[in-house]
Amino acid sequence: MKWTQTLVPTLREAPADAEIPSHQLLLRAGLIRKLAGGVYTFLPLGLRTLRKIERIIREEMDRAGALEVAMPALQPPEIWEASGRAQTAGDVLFKLKDSTGRQWFLSPTAEEVITTLAANEINSYRQLPKNFYQVSVKFRDEIRPRFGLMRAKEFIMKDAYSFDTTDEGAMASYQKMYDAYKRIFARCGLQSFPVEADTGVIGGSHSHEFMIPAATGENEVAYCEACGYAANIEKATSGIPKTAARELGAAVEKFSTPGVVSIEALAKEPYKVAANRQIKTLVYIADSKPVIILVRGDDQLNETKLMAKTGAIAARPATPEECVATLGAKPGSLGAVLNVPADVKVYADERLRGANDMATGANEDGFHLKNVSIERDIKVSEWFDLRTVNAGEPCGKCAKPLKIRRAIEVGHVFKLGTKYSAKLNATFLDADGARKPSVMGCYGIGVTRTLQAVVEQSNDKDGIVWPIAVAPYTVCITPLGVAPGSPAMTLAEKIYTELTARGVDVILDDRDERPGVKFKDADLVGFPIRVAIGEKGLAKGEVEVKPRNAPFQAVKAEDAVEAVMKLVNG
Ligand code: ATP
Ligand code: MG
Repeated sequence: MKWTQTLVPTLREAPADAEIPSHQLLLRAGLIRKLAGGVYTFLPLGLRTLRKIERIIREEMDRAGALEVAMPALQPPEIWEASGRAQTAGDVLFKLKDSTGRQWFLSPTAEEVITTLAANEINSYRQLPKNFYQVSVKFRDEIRPRFGLMRAKEFIMKDAYSFDTTDEGAMASYQKMYDAYKRIFARCGLQSFPVEADTGVIGGSHSHEFMIPAATGENEVAYCEACGYAANIEKATSGIPKTAARELGAAVEKFSTPGVVSIEALAKEPYKVAANRQIKTLVYIADSKPVIILVRGDDQLNETKLMAKTGAIAARPATPEECVATLGAKPGSLGAVLNVPADVKVYADERLRGANDMATGANEDGFHLKNVSIERDIKVSEWFDLRTVNAGEPCGKCAKPLKIRRAIEVGHVFKLGTKYSAKLNATFLDADGARKPSVMGCYGIGVTRTLQAVVEQSNDKDGIVWPIAVAPYTVCITPLGVAPGSPAMTLAEKIYTELTARGVDVILDDRDERPGVKFKDADLVGFPIRVAIGEKGLAKGEVEVKPRNAPFQAVKAEDAVEAVMKLVNG
């Protein structure tokens, strides 16, 4: 490709609304353009990279035995009603009406569609296992689209769905996808690592997310360098000890704490009740009903765990008015010892089990309670792990200190079990003559998010540093002096033709621009290899071959193609 014949609108400055390096670079390098918040156009070079990533994904899916299909983006709401997700996933669903007033959903994912297909087409154990995948545009009404392709309203996802006759079969299908994902991200030049994940709204029993470490990532991951444990913070647990038991104190006692409305204030003079001897009482509205949550004073409630453990679809902190309605007091004075309405559930964090000699709010401004023994004095409905782990806590597996880092979720594998197949009648006749629901798994890769993650992980002060496998072009030839028939241009065209003949993707920068401008653009777009042909070098019969992230080497003009091929083949 000649530079002047394609469109590479590079920018000196990043647009003001691009917050993170990869978003700025994709815009500056002329790879994407924003049409509206969370909605992007891919320009020719951006699309080339996207296609390369898609090809890697397809190759690995095919290799793992998955079958490519193409499902519609328009989905009838009935299948979402049948699966029960019309409610649970309701807020990300794009809904539209056709001219007859019939409603449609735009596909955010396709469990319902593929399970409907399986219900109709798969009848016997002899047809199983099967794994179907597609690479297609998905739509999600994200409240806050941001960071370019990272969280978009319209994006490309690879989604796959496996159907097996047994649980063991489903685990084997899961493992195949897990292994394929590792290969896919490695082939894209990414350092990815799988972590245990919450199963969220999709439901299911077993799940891993594939993460790319990045300071700008929206996820936090707890991990142990010693034993390899790694989990999304939404799911992570640690080996932190329970609250130290003390003598069972006398009866609960009310004491005066004028103006004290925080854990920190009660920890100070004159009360000096350490945060780890306090019970923090929170009121949440879970699926429109108030619930009370107890965690230790020095712990933080993990909302994802709250929803996962209690099965709530939506949960938010209660407003001060709602707290008053539930417990008769405002946040800062709440406790679960007194006046808990009989129909309000009290969920306590496991770390508080057996704790005694604790302090908590008295549901009365200016007063707290002491000598609280949680199992004696509070009617706990259920105990769950509800706290967020902190860096430095002992790993639950090997007791070495946990670390926490930020990361980008690029892929997600789930074992779904029979949740969808049972509801949508995707059953098969087994060898024993019984009709059974298929055991399913689902597997997603954010293709456009992966593309941006490559840039986020691989850039420097001058621009993007593409791994060869996914670069828009592998080689950029930069003749300095582009007059047709000039020695530089003639040699450039010769090298271009030879490399192209060997299957290398080459772009020839035939713009009549100063060398500085051309080099800057080549570095900004991030081509892995640059071949510069200048008058001075030519006089000696030499050209410069420069890997994007290493110094140049002067090579004889006739050796240029071999030198490039050596770099291409690693
Ligand atoms: P997130 O937690 O980031 O919202 P998710 O868990 O809802 O993502 P999945 O339903 O697991 O996402 O979708 C599979 C993959 O699709 C994700 O791993 C991610 O890479 C990608 N993805 C999800 N939402 C978006 C989005 N709004 N924009 C771009 N990619 C997305
Ligand atoms: Mg996910």
